Amino acid sequence: MTAFAQAASPHVMNTYARLPIALERGQGVRVWDARGKQYLDALGGIAVNTLGHNHPKLVPALQEQIAKIIHTSNYYHVPLQEELARLLVERSGLTNVFFCNSGLEANEAALKLARKYGHDRGIERPQIVVYDKAFHGRSIATLSATGNPKVQAGFGPLVEGFIRVPMNDIAAIRAATEGNSDVVAVFFETIQGEGGVNPMRADYLRELRALCDERGWLMMIDEVQCGMGRTGQWFAHQWAGILPDVMPLAKGLGSGVPIGAVVAGPKAASIFGPGNHGTTFGGNPLAMRAGVETIRIMEEDNLLANAAEVGEHLKAALARAFTGLDGVLEVRGQGLMLGVELARPCGVLVQRAADAGLLISVTADRVIRLVPSLILTRAEADEIVALLAPLVRDFLAEEAAGAAA
Ligand SMILES: *Cc1c(COP(=O)(O)O)cnc(C)c1O
Repeated sequence: MTAFAQAASPHVMNTYARLPIALERGQGVRVWDARGKQYLDALGGIAVNTLGHNHPKLVPALQEQIAKIIHTSNYYHVPLQEELARLLVERSGLTNVFFCNSGLEANEAALKLARKYGHDRGIERPQIVVYDKAFHGRSIATLSATGNPKVQAGFGPLVEGFIRVPMNDIAAIRAATEGNSDVVAVFFETIQGEGGVNPMRADYLRELRALCDERGWLMMIDEVQCGMGRTGQWFAHQWAGILPDVMPLAKGLGSGVPIGAVVAGPKAASIFGPGNHGTTFGGNPLAMRAGVETIRIMEEDNLLANAAEVGEHLKAALARAFTGLDGVLEVRGQGLMLGVELARPCGVLVQRAADAGLLISVTADRVIRLVPSLILTRAEADEIVALLAPLVRDFLAEEAAGAAA
């Protein structure tokens, strides 16, 4: 047997189109595979590894926690939940937190909150506004909220009660909800991740906040990917100066330890009572310690400022590298959540980049997505561009050659 990942496993379900690479260890933003090949990690476990790999402050803290206690159950108080909740509340301006284990679980809790918010006000069939190209997860409810037919195909009947609208168009949401008193919430990502790194405009977010207030809707912002400092603010919506009512978090919150959280403000904080929602693993001491230490280290090491600064540097360097290239439509995003949209599907670049020693993803078929760890330096950002730019140029030149032939 080889320790090296094979294309198809005899025993693991075939749910991922995996690269034939098995990563064995990491240090900072570098990882090594089972053969000893080194990669620069611009994917960060899909916006999960906030502190990079083998962080010298995180690892001993988690080792200590594991030796103390890993899991207890929510039959008992978990003081670390109190601590992490306080840290999240202080940084978000919201008031209360429910802990779970993943992004879809956080979103599922948000959807339940919105429905009960409706029922509590006598709305029997509550409806929730969601967006084109949104991604909220792969449970039955969250895939129904997702705006990607590929994610939904084969899993109908979908959960009802969603109204879908385009992004950044306040007239469209007004028209879609006109005279509909069953609407209870609007649910969206500040910057869509899987949908292709698509930012909501700040002025649209402020108009949406006003519309939610006018209609009594909950504003529920899925910050699972764009939150936790990635854009240079704790939460991406903070750039627009707005406050949500409900905010699901996950990916970057535990630096790789599975965790999810729903943070709620006054309108949503006391909708759930005992028996309304729960999870066995949610809020266990190991995950909570990972969250607490992630936030502590991010602050000690100034990682918000770093994400903003190095992100801007990386974005500018990408824009420069691709200036005048016809096949590059746009470089967009904020902080260390960046996308490069090409004019045609470019999934093959993922393997080619890995061959060249760079880990990236391609989302929405033709958007190269870079979501590296927040510890990335300018020099490492330059290295990403130096590795990526020639691959993109060669890729686009192939098409030009093909078209000319
Ligand atoms: C990844 C993601 C999810 C789903 O999170 P899982 O932990 O994979 O369930 C939900 N929403 C957004 C915005 C995401 O990026």
